[in-house]
Amino acid sequence: MTRAPGAGGRMVVVGGGLAGITAALEAASLGAEVVLVERRARLGGLTWSFERNGRTFDNGQHVFMRCCHAYRAFLRRIGAADQVHLQSRLDVPVLAPGGRQAHISRSTAPLPSPLHLAGSLLSYSHLGVKDRLRAGQVVAALRRLRLDDPSLDAESFGSFLARHGQSAAALERLWDLVILPTVNVGAAEASLALAAKVLRTGLLDQADGGDLGWSLVPLGVLHGENGRRALERAGVEVLCSTAVDAIAAGARGAGGHGADASPVTVTAGSRRLRADAVVVAVAHDAARALLPADAIGDLSGLGRSPIVNVHLVLDRKVTDLPFAAAVGSPVQFVFDRTDSSGTEAGTQCLVVSLSAATGEIGARPETLVTRYFEALGTLFPAARRASLVDAVVTREHAATFRGVPGTAALRLGPSTACHGVYVAGAWCATGWPATMEGAVRAGNAAAAAAITGCRIERPLEEVPA
Ligand SMILES: Cc1cc2nc3c(=O)[nH]c(=O)nc-3n(C[C@H](O)[C@H](O)[C@H](O)COP(=O)(O)OP(=O)(O)OC[C@H]3O[C@@H](n4cnc5c(N)ncnc54)[C@H](O)[C@@H]3O)c2cc1C
Repeated sequence: MTRAPGAGGRMVVVGGGLAGITAALEAASLGAEVVLVERRARLGGLTWSFERNGRTFDNGQHVFMRCCHAYRAFLRRIGAADQVHLQSRLDVPVLAPGGRQAHISRSTAPLPSPLHLAGSLLSYSHLGVKDRLRAGQVVAALRRLRLDDPSLDAESFGSFLARHGQSAAALERLWDLVILPTVNVGAAEASLALAAKVLRTGLLDQADGGDLGWSLVPLGVLHGENGRRALERAGVEVLCSTAVDAIAAGARGAGGHGADASPVTVTAGSRRLRADAVVVAVAHDAARALLPADAIGDLSGLGRSPIVNVHLVLDRKVTDLPFAAAVGSPVQFVFDRTDSSGTEAGTQCLVVSLSAATGEIGARPETLVTRYFEALGTLFPAARRASLVDAVVTREHAATFRGVPGTAALRLGPSTACHGVYVAGAWCATGWPATMEGAVRAGNAAAAAAITGCRIERPLEEVPA
């Protein structure tokens, strides 16, 4: 890429997760000189991988949908689009103990929404006939909602479902399958605004929006290594293993941008970087700690919701399914990660993914391994004859914010009350739950706002501490 030096200003991006990588790439493409500072030795933020006994495990299974246009563009931008699989047609096998299997899937015929889901809902044998018919009423009611109506965030999805006659079984066996992995709280608790966003954008607005995708390679390669190469190609200076300790910036003047033209100073250890704009692309509580108290207000109400993954390497192949959901089981979703983990031929690496895992986050690894190995035996008969070759549990205490009612008003960005300071991250005001799509959207928005909002004249310079 060629550009006039400094044509778009000098920018520091704090944080090398998806939001930070995106913001840095976007700002560089708009002509800025960019330094990205990441406290860890690697890029990728909450999407990462590690080696153990010659195999590669991810911190947690990540899935996206065809409607995640910003994330898919990000994959193309970093040269990773051919390292993911995207279903040609949504198909989620839903297992129950004893081997009963139903599917949530898009029709093979090219039917328009919502007819594309009608066949699979009507034949969804994990629910009684009355519940299947009533699910159609929820679909009709969701289609009538205006997603930009702020009152949607005052109600829980659970209360909306109750108003539309949904039973406890429908909540657990249908709605939780979509809401738990996307909003990272149960359907009963989730904000109606976030649940409606996912269901409308993913399943209803476009017939093919919900086709699912996942990485074919470890996440550390998909986002971390590809991201680093893309940043280098774009001319972004990447400082890893460097934590930003403080950010100093002037308060935004009454006249808005330009009222205070002083540069931002970013302190990272012994280094002080001066820039015309900084994009703070860290988790909401970390952003709060870095910025002046009045810059972004109190975000503690966003809370944290954990995700736990139980990785089980079995001595034989027990299923041909690439992934499945489960009902009537402690398993929520299980994914086959044999190929990406580099597990030896003849064995199988299955990963049980548990969202909103408040009950599991503090449990002992041995307890979780035993519980989920046994549970797999009830879903896949061949697993009862299998032995464990290896097992590891990964826990992310703060995987996402808690997407409950009242959170929309707390989410903000990309601008802050400080001149030249912008925020990005999956927690920002994108309308999406805390997802890869939300992180990328927030990164793009912050870069665009920083470029257009700041008149950038001063060079990025390093001054003695
Ligand atoms: C186990 C798990 C499963 C998930 N599953 C899915 C899924 O299936 N689909 C989906 O779309 N999303 C999923 N998510 C959510 C998704 O991973 C996140 O929303 C997204 O990665 C957040 O990106 P981010 O850039 O906003 O933040 P982060 O990834 O948190 O990046 C912030 C970065 O800032 C760095 N940082 C913090 N403080 C400083 C500092 N002072 N100085 C320098 N650097 C700093 C951090 O080290 C980090 O690298 C999952 C998350 C987890 C944890």
